Amino acid sequence: MTATIIDGKAFAASVRDKVAARVAEIKEQNGITPGLAVVLVGEDPASQVYVRSKGKMTVEVGMNSYEHKLDADTSEEDLLAIVEKLNNDPAVHGILVQLPLPDHLNSDLIINAIDPAKDVDGFHISNVGLLGTGQKSMVPCTPLGSLMMLRDHHGSLSGMNAVVLGRSNIVGKPMAQLLLGDSCTVTIAHSRTKDLADVVRRADIVVAAVGRPQMVPGDWIKPGATVIDVGINRIDAPEKGEGKTRLVGDVDYDSCAEVAGAITPVPGGVGPMTIACLLANTLTACCRANGLEEPEGLTA
Ligand code: NDP
Repeated sequence: MTATIIDGKAFAASVRDKVAARVAEIKEQNGITPGLAVVLVGEDPASQVYVRSKGKMTVEVGMNSYEHKLDADTSEEDLLAIVEKLNNDPAVHGILVQLPLPDHLNSDLIINAIDPAKDVDGFHISNVGLLGTGQKSMVPCTPLGSLMMLRDHHGSLSGMNAVVLGRSNIVGKPMAQLLLGDSCTVTIAHSRTKDLADVVRRADIVVAAVGRPQMVPGDWIKPGATVIDVGINRIDAPEKGEGKTRLVGDVDYDSCAEVAGAITPVPGGVGPMTIACLLANTLTACCRANGLEEPEGLTA
């Protein structure tokens, strides 16, 4: 079997188109422009790239983008003051504090200072609790994007066996909650899981979020299963020339694609969906804040 490739790049473009269409409607009918504020502390190169591309795409869908770039030695007090200001700014519907923060700042404290209604990353403890109890919440972007692709591919996920590899707060746990919400039978595997290969072999849906390059081989995959590869790992690529690198996921793409029914590539799978869902969440937050109808198909 050769797997269908789930094209996250194309799917993300269609999500952004939907967001842009609703943003244009809201601007025209209600005179409101959704706004996303991104706060970056320090000069981590990867974070700078993410923040730049978030800002660019925010503007492309017609939203306002507010960037706050702070020195690496910014105090907790000053950062909290900025978060508070953004919480109280009616032009700002979504707030994202780029992680990781420098070591002297307490991420939990900062994230939990964001107004949960503006917490477009879905990391605030209130949103975690709302998601866990099946209530309306802001949902973390990477799991939301993964869920959208699964729903699009399968229609209903009800009754499917899903295995989530990884139990992080930003990917594994919320992913498992979302799959449970869609009536999958969910197993969360992690570094202490016994007989991991056997556990994964039972899955109709495998979501890999471990941060280990190409860890899942094709012979762990049940024939016909759907594989969502969240991993983004940079490895050496001597075949491209000296000192060159390339991106790979947490699954061994070539061997898994021979067995799976469908698979997301890396790059071009889950990655592009993450920013698209950030924009979708900002739109959702704006609609909720203003009592407007929420966009269809862009929330969990
Ligand atoms: P974390 O490092 O926070 O969590 C990794 C999880 O994988 C942990 O629960 C860990 O288990 C588990 N794990 C590690 N090694 C093994 C192993 N050998 N067998 C089984 N489980 C294992 O990572 P994140 O969740 O933040 O990210 C995971 C991957 O997703 C990374 O590659 C990251 O780059 C990528 N990512 C991609 C995004 C995107 O936009 N596409 C967004 C966010 C992340 P334990 O808890 O026991 O230690």
